[in-house]
Amino acid sequence: MPALAAVRGFKDILPHEIGPWTLIEGKARDLARRFGFLEIRPPVLERTELFARGIGESTDIVEKEMYTMDDRGGGRVTLRPEATAGIARAVIEHGILQTRKTARLFFLGPMFRYERPQKGRLRQFHQLDCEIFGDPGPWSDAEVISLLWSFLTELGAQDLTLAVNTLGCPKCRPLFREALVEHLSAGRASLCEDCIRRLERNPMRVLDCKNPGCRSLALSAPRIPDFACPECRAHFAGVLEALSSLGLEPVLDPLLVRGLDYYARTAFEVLAGGLGAQNAVAGGGRYDGLLAALGGPDLPGIGFAAGLERLALLLPERPAAPGPDFWLAPLCPEAVGPLFRLAGFLRGKGLSVLADWEPGSLKSRLKKADKANASKCLVLGADELQGGRVLVRDLKTGEQSLASLADLSPLPAPAGLDAAPAAGPELRGGGA
Ligand SMILES: [Zn+2]
Ligand SMILES: [Zn+2]
Repeated sequence: MPALAAVRGFKDILPHEIGPWTLIEGKARDLARRFGFLEIRPPVLERTELFARGIGESTDIVEKEMYTMDDRGGGRVTLRPEATAGIARAVIEHGILQTRKTARLFFLGPMFRYERPQKGRLRQFHQLDCEIFGDPGPWSDAEVISLLWSFLTELGAQDLTLAVNTLGCPKCRPLFREALVEHLSAGRASLCEDCIRRLERNPMRVLDCKNPGCRSLALSAPRIPDFACPECRAHFAGVLEALSSLGLEPVLDPLLVRGLDYYARTAFEVLAGGLGAQNAVAGGGRYDGLLAALGGPDLPGIGFAAGLERLALLLPERPAAPGPDFWLAPLCPEAVGPLFRLAGFLRGKGLSVLADWEPGSLKSRLKKADKANASKCLVLGADELQGGRVLVRDLKTGEQSLASLADLSPLPAPAGLDAAPAAGPELRGGGA
């Protein structure tokens, strides 16, 4: 029978590749704690309608990238292509903002999009999502941006650029939109087919089209910040001032847009060198109209998503998976039993232990211990066994010493009397 392979665009993360993931996820949790974000885990599957409403019908994601299927019970369901809509749905469904003024939530997990697989782009990919609901900013805008920046830089990602823009609000954006449509219509001949379509439905999306004709028209287009109302200007100035007080001086990019109506004011992106043309490693913004668009309270929100596959490519070094504290090496069949019991004892003490239960030569055992990246090797042969001792070899320094087997692993109390193993003298804690 032919062996089966994983689905195209879906990738196994193998044990020898897990190092960067452990590091990235640990850093994400650490920063979430430092910024007061609580973890939320929405389900992988949501009603298709949630994404149509939460991301927008006329976006690439909803039009052509979603994994959508019929639910057996009726209706259409979709594997989440992004996290914000699901988190917002959960905030509304569980009335989270009824009992508290703001909610700071983070989520780490897989997303699914039917995209063309390329460098660092998969159909199942992973994101860190951080969202603040109920806080109009601008301080919270700067907090979210600063969390993202710390996340990337503390991991050692190099050559990063922070870009920000203001998208205005429902009061001032229509003026910009009008001026933009006028400008784009005048240069319609140089627009790509997609952008001619966007001109009617979603003209702001033309500003981030990579097509050269669209790009040059975008560069001469009216700029959103010039149309911002006094409130939007004050908000944007507040964000920049708060960032500056943390030593962050972002680049102002008037072409940085979000295509959806509920996005407002702050938009931001972190770009990385060395990732090719698609060089955004994270992006986010204020979505003050999202909760209301999903049938929830009219309360503001801001957040970002960072792509973890792309981030893993930016890490300066790939940390190796840690090895065990002890590698146990029996040199003769009689040594296996005592070492097996010793393994149980040491694991009960919280230490990590690996062994090859097949007895063999010292040389080959040490080689295996080395390969497993163990800290120490405990060797038990016929001679040691007779003396009731075990050879302790430090694999980092090469130092060797003998330890008493009875001290290392005292006999457990008879079953039923006391389940806890008695501590050996050198491992005995204060309360024993
Ligand atoms: Zn405004
Ligand atoms: Zn275009």
